[in-house]
Amino acid sequence: MRGLSSIITGIAPSATLEISDKARQLQQQGLDVISLSIGEPDFDTPAHIKDACIQALMRGETHYVPSNGIPELVSAIAGKTEKENKIPCTPGQVIVTCGAKDAIYDAMAAVLNPGDEVIILDPSWVSYEPCVRMAGGRPVHHLLDTRTFQLDDSVLEKVTQKTRMVIVNSPSNPSGAVLDKSSLGVVADMCEDYDLLSLSDEIYEKLIYGKKHIALASIGDMAQRTITVNGFSKAYAMTGWRLGWAVAPQMIINQMSKVQQHSISHPTTFAMYGGVAALTSDQSCVETMRKEFNRRRDYLVQELLLMGHEVAPADGAFYAYVKTGGDDLATARIWLEKGQVAVTPGSAFNTPGWQRISYATSMERLHDAVIRIRSLS
Ligand code: PMP
Ligand code: GLU
Repeated sequence: MRGLSSIITGIAPSATLEISDKARQLQQQGLDVISLSIGEPDFDTPAHIKDACIQALMRGETHYVPSNGIPELVSAIAGKTEKENKIPCTPGQVIVTCGAKDAIYDAMAAVLNPGDEVIILDPSWVSYEPCVRMAGGRPVHHLLDTRTFQLDDSVLEKVTQKTRMVIVNSPSNPSGAVLDKSSLGVVADMCEDYDLLSLSDEIYEKLIYGKKHIALASIGDMAQRTITVNGFSKAYAMTGWRLGWAVAPQMIINQMSKVQQHSISHPTTFAMYGGVAALTSDQSCVETMRKEFNRRRDYLVQELLLMGHEVAPADGAFYAYVKTGGDDLATARIWLEKGQVAVTPGSAFNTPGWQRISYATSMERLHDAVIRIRSLS
């Protein structure tokens, strides 16, 4: 049909959203489907965060505000970034966005020119490649070592005259792996040697088990060439709030700001007050959720290993990435149709032969899912 964008028609729908929608539909038809397909905490947003939003709504915080976000939230993010992530950050280097996804989209639109190449480390989350493509860029995939899920110098073979950026995601969706200092060092050296930008998606930084998160922009002079993306969805169970942010050199933020001004203006005003409460209040709610994720992780990984599966190092996020081999799309279909367990096949993350199992669901449901998966293995 004429009149459709060739860029958008060439992009697949989001596999994570599509599969979870399908699982929801089957549940609505009365089937007892256990949905382990979407990366979404099953916890409710902590009460003090909801209260702060309700109070803001009731006092009339219902109007337009500065497009980069309310000053209270911008300052809270700048303060958090300096203190926790050791990245120098002024309020002018912050933009509040409609979720981390929107920050990624804005970033690509702000820095890419048609034909610019962006290196994506696989397995990679479903929306990086589409965001690159929508901005006219060209994704160039590089497969991480699928035993350690770390990066070595072989990535340098992917650098060309057109390379503009490398995307880093640690802890990783879908593998759960955490990049170590040496992998991040490879990225930092590559960016410096070839004058590249980096987008570092650190949305799972607080969901980490026994390892330490290192912000890419805290290494060497990476703060001058890194767009750090983060958000409230995972750490504070705020997926539906659509609230995230980016921190970057001010020249980049100024361009991202224009993309935001001409598309969404800014995220919902009263939601941003919830974000202030999340960042500036006691953080014990994050630790409570992290501990529960850790308990489920230990259980699920152990069961999968007992079944004889290879599992990626599940050091962060809330996913077990399991090597099932063969046709991963067929395996996922069988698990859904015969076992009524919905997972996301590795093809969605550019690594066929794997399944991503989200353990952001109750222990009871995980237990049932394990029994069902075992009976199909
Ligand atoms: N990055 C990664 C790696 C994710 O898993 C998600 C989950 N949706 C996002 C970004 C986007 O998060 P949100 O837009 O909900 O902040
Ligand atoms: N990031 C989550 C996932 O990978 C949520 C869905 C999405 O935004 O893609 O399942």
